[in-house]
Parts: sequence; C-alpha cells; structure tokens
Amino acid sequence: MENELGKYPKNYPNCPCCGSTERQAGNIIKKQKEEGKAGPNIIAFVHRYDSTIADMSRVLLTVPILSNFMDICEECGTMYSIHSELNQGQIKMKGITK
Ligand SMILES: [Zn+2]
Repeated sequence: MENELGKYPKNYPNCPCCGSTERQAGNIIKKQKEEGKAGPNIIAFVHRYDSTIADMSRVLLTVPILSNFMDICEECGTMYSIHSELNQGQIKMKGITK
C-alpha cells in the first residue's frame, strides 16, 4: 500500500549490524509454536513503539500512527525494528475538569 510515508507494512528480517536472522523473542516464540503453545501467525517482539506522525498543534480527527515492533539480535544484542506498519489513529479529546 502506497501512502504519504511510503510503502507499509515493512519487514526487516536481518539484524542491521551483523546480518543474523536469530532474534531473542523470535526464537522463544518459535519454540512455543513448535510445542503448540502459540498460534502460527503471532509476531514476537520485545517492545512496540507507536509514533504519531502529525502536527499536533492542528485540529485533526485522525492522524497517522507509525508502529515499529522491536526485537533483539541473539548474536550481537542490537535492538532493531523487525516490522513497521502505518495505521490511522483517532485523537481522543479530554474534557475540562475543575
Ligand atoms: Zn546482530
């Protein structure tokens, strides 16, 4: 899907430092899948960053949300994004209280 920020979702199967495909959370979930303890389509990651990509001083009902799913390389310890996706998020208005 082409949009204002490029083509998403994107997958990054290799560590950007050493090129390994071995990931800490990825290896744990792979073992759980083999043992039937996890579904076949689950993506394992250690942290998720959701970033609002918009001028927050403007009044907008929906804004682009860029989500990056991070894992850690088993070989060299580098944390890197294994999957990026771009979605639309809604801004929730909070009422004024005294
Ligand atoms: Zn690495």
